[in-house]
Amino acid sequence: MATTLLSDANIRLERALKYVHISADASERLKFPKASLKVSIPVRMDNGDLRVFEGYRVRYDDTRGPTKGGIRFHPGVTMDEVQSLAFWMTFKCAALSLPFGGAKGGITLNPKELSKFELERLSRGYIDAIADFIGPDVDIPAPDVYTNPMIMGWMMDQYSIIRRKLSPAVITGKPLGMGGSQGRDTATGTGAFYVLGAMMRKFNRVPQDTTIAVQGFGNAGSIIARLLFDAGYRVVAVSDSQGGVYCPQGLDIPSLQQFKASTRSVKAVYCKGTVCNLVDNQEAITNEELLTLDVDILIPAALENQITEANAANVQARFIFEVANGPISSGGDRILEANGVYVFPDILVNAGGVTVSYFEWVQNRSGLYWSESEVNQRLQTKIVEEAESIWRLSQNLDIPMRTAAYVHALERLEEAHSARGTRDYYVS
Ligand code: NAD
Repeated sequence: MATTLLSDANIRLERALKYVHISADASERLKFPKASLKVSIPVRMDNGDLRVFEGYRVRYDDTRGPTKGGIRFHPGVTMDEVQSLAFWMTFKCAALSLPFGGAKGGITLNPKELSKFELERLSRGYIDAIADFIGPDVDIPAPDVYTNPMIMGWMMDQYSIIRRKLSPAVITGKPLGMGGSQGRDTATGTGAFYVLGAMMRKFNRVPQDTTIAVQGFGNAGSIIARLLFDAGYRVVAVSDSQGGVYCPQGLDIPSLQQFKASTRSVKAVYCKGTVCNLVDNQEAITNEELLTLDVDILIPAALENQITEANAANVQARFIFEVANGPISSGGDRILEANGVYVFPDILVNAGGVTVSYFEWVQNRSGLYWSESEVNQRLQTKIVEEAESIWRLSQNLDIPMRTAAYVHALERLEEAHSARGTRDYYVS
């Protein structure tokens, strides 16, 4: 049984290795992160006290290009979690054929306890601590849970101060005025929406007859909920860290977004202008209840390890689209598979974020900026093309979509590793 997130992530790798010819050198290399950095970040708090925070940055594999991955601010951040997220990024970038390896970073804290000034000093302090570990040709961070464009902007600015030159390509997910890309803020949810649409067509599902529950109403979750609502799907439940709401007739997602923005909580509401009224037949539900609702599609869009051996048997949805990274444990996967649930994996479904991050990096380096529709068009073409390839692999080899996504990524990783020379090259 897996004891860490990284060993659990490696179980997926082991399974995929059975379906792809890969050199022993490459498979051995991919089991270990290339470099893991742990730093302490001293921050002067508003009351004059000094507080020291723990931060991490992991570069997992850079065989296909500079490493890429977000920065998370959360109390649960550990080295194990950051290494697992960096592992997933390696496979995600390869699955989408982006010229990047995988990385991730994080700071262990509850960002809601810090003032904006403290958050800025912490963000700049983190960059001071990891500046020699990152760079536009080395490792390029981005936003993740509880980090946003403003934080990315402070970080890019700090890196530029250290290097004494403007370096927008060191970080993606920046504000538009600092070299950010159109469409980056909505890219993860938008990419997931494109994948969902392409896959549902294979099952002849009609939006109006399809019910959906979304766990996590943050950046990624609220955007996909909104796009699904606009496309006519019935989003019947959403939740955030405080709990959720269920309304069998379907929620009015634009009103809910407006309500959440002003009150920081989710409720089934109908808003007219700035006035929001509660809907009568709503039901408050816990995050655990949301996962086991009788819906067609379940979208975990919060944190990892939400569906495990403990609750997978209770999942009633027929399809799961993993917008969060790692929301299902490998034990949970086995149960869902036995029950005939189709799981569309994180390394494909949420890859819209890193794909548009790649577009942002390209725009920063070329100095030519694209319109939002151009960005979305390129995103749709790329993510749907890779989704179709993974679907074909899954059908041809009769394997789950997750394993197919890993096989697809492994073929590209193998090509890059082999090109550098493997045992067969040196000893024959
Ligand atoms: P976010 O901070 O904007 O939103 C997270 C949401 O999850 C919030 O609404 C929060 O209230 C909710 N939440 C937190 N704990 C919860 C719990 N225990 N149960 C239910 N909800 C809970 O973060 P995000 O950027 O939307 O990221 C969400 C997930 O998507 C993460 O797994 C992240 O790694 C993944 N992801 C994000 C991006 C991106 O570009 N933002 C890209 C790829 C993957």
